[in-house]
Amino acid sequence: MKYFNTIFVIVFALVVITMIVTIFSIFSSKLRGKLLNKQVKAIKYMTDYSKDDIQAINENMSSIAINSKKNILNKYGEDLKDISTKEAKIKEEGIKIKTKSIKEGLTSNKKYCKHCGVLIDEDSQYCSKCGKKQ
Ligand SMILES: [Zn+2]
Repeated sequence: MKYFNTIFVIVFALVVITMIVTIFSIFSSKLRGKLLNKQVKAIKYMTDYSKDDIQAINENMSSIAINSKKNILNKYGEDLKDISTKEAKIKEEGIKIKTKSIKEGLTSNKKYCKHCGVLIDEDSQYCSKCGKKQ
């Protein structure tokens, strides 16, 4: 019975200490920083201790990534070429449209609507698209 009482007191004291530390760390950024610093140190010890394992894992993952990329290129190389050609054509089209509208804006007597941004004649009082006054 006395033995149980001792264990109960120890467990109770640990719970109270943990609660106090938790509450303090909520309000004190200094304490929180110290606790986090301990975690950083633990990570440092862990990485020092497991250097070889970490290196092996990295090498394995790299070789998996390289091999899977090789496989993808071998299997779907032609499809990927086709996709990137199509994407380049779409981008080319977009650049042409942008260049054309910049040229129009710079050379012709046009301005952009203050409200919707569409290109309208310089002397027009109202926007031809949204109808708002300039
Ligand atoms: Zn407009």
